[in-house]
Amino acid sequence: MWGQVALSVVLHLFDTAQGKVVPFEPREPGKVSMYVCGPTVYGPPHLGHGRFSLVFDVLRRYLTWTGLEVNYVSNITDIDDKIINRANDEGREWSDIAQKCEQVWWKAMEAIGVDRPTSDPHATAYVDQMVELIADLIARDVAYVSDDGVYFTPTAVADYGLLARQSIESLQAGARVEVADHKHSPIDFALWKFTKPGEPSWPSPWGEGRPGWHTECVVMSLDLLGEGFDIHGGGQDLAFPHHENERAQALASGRTFARHWMHNGFVEVGGEKMSKSLGNFTNLLDLVESTDPRAYRLLVLRSHYRTPLEVTRVTTDDASAALRRLDAFARRAANAGLASEPDAASVEAFRVAMDNDLDTPAAVALLFGLVGQANTALDAGNSATAAPLAAAAFEICRAVGLVLNAGGEEVPAEILDRARARDDARAAKDWAAADAIRDELTEAGWLVEDTADGTQVRPA
Ligand SMILES: [Zn+2]
Repeated sequence: MWGQVALSVVLHLFDTAQGKVVPFEPREPGKVSMYVCGPTVYGPPHLGHGRFSLVFDVLRRYLTWTGLEVNYVSNITDIDDKIINRANDEGREWSDIAQKCEQVWWKAMEAIGVDRPTSDPHATAYVDQMVELIADLIARDVAYVSDDGVYFTPTAVADYGLLARQSIESLQAGARVEVADHKHSPIDFALWKFTKPGEPSWPSPWGEGRPGWHTECVVMSLDLLGEGFDIHGGGQDLAFPHHENERAQALASGRTFARHWMHNGFVEVGGEKMSKSLGNFTNLLDLVESTDPRAYRLLVLRSHYRTPLEVTRVTTDDASAALRRLDAFARRAANAGLASEPDAASVEAFRVAMDNDLDTPAAVALLFGLVGQANTALDAGNSATAAPLAAAAFEICRAVGLVLNAGGEEVPAEILDRARARDDARAAKDWAAADAIRDELTEAGWLVEDTADGTQVRPA
């Protein structure tokens, strides 16, 4: 009976615009077009960047695993106030900051196992198209030229506030009245900003300047995915105003925009616990360097994507320990020579969980349940029972991008000795010595992790 129910299951996702879980139906059968707002490249990626990248990487992989062809577009904002401010502070070229930070971004994404997007458009490559869109909005009388730029009039869009789940009246009441009188209304937002001295600029019919952030994603998503593309995603903080303002421009220019809006929850690090001196991560690079990067994926999978996620040494250590159990099982299965088709009912149960608004916590519980059952069967010498369960567990890992390490390469005794020496140094609060040993091990090609059981070393 369960199998019959499962056959009728289709992917359901929470849609921010409708405020509820709804069936997901792609624009074109068999294909999914997704746009996820990427980073503004002005500094190292933070933990929140890691989370949204992992959440949408899991969705992309899952959709692909179910047989859909996914066109995944995620942009690089390579011109923005934050980039210009840092360039001015450091006396560097803005483009140098953007390029270097982008390289760091891709390295971090690679480290956490996030696949490159199908396309990664850059804002600076789309300025001409942005100017065209702005000209069209002015011609339609929904945007106006002010003394410091061009602004959009949200009141032109009847259901503005949809993604904020607020009416335009309450948004207007809540908006601060700004001192400078550049705008007709406090909720109007900039499409084009006239150049200030020392800033990069592009020509436009209204004067030299640069585009506002909200315009780039409209132009790039519609150019690469077309009208009515399937999914527009990003962190919860982007729903309003960024995504609302993207949507408003698209609608006001007479185009249909995203059919489905997805937003992932925040990363929390427990207030004052944020500082590195207290043992938590300062950013994604710090996490990638000091823990098994796969732990972040498992941590993300263990929480539902719409809930807040606590990312601390405690939670990543716990995920690392869980990964060691999975790795140990992968080794055991390899050594036992288990080979089988995956247990169909377990794979179906995985699909049911994922189709329920990506219930990854249920999928992870299923995964560990399978590993437990397969281990029990192996303990009893029953490989025939263990094999399909193991295959189902590995299939689930594959579908969500969790790479297991079945290699089990031996760590030489002298390296283990250095790891113990590091624990001794830490116990003696000799942080300099502990850091020096960590650097020494890292340079020698070992991945060094701090866990509740002390320093753990694995081949990098
Ligand atoms: Zn965007």
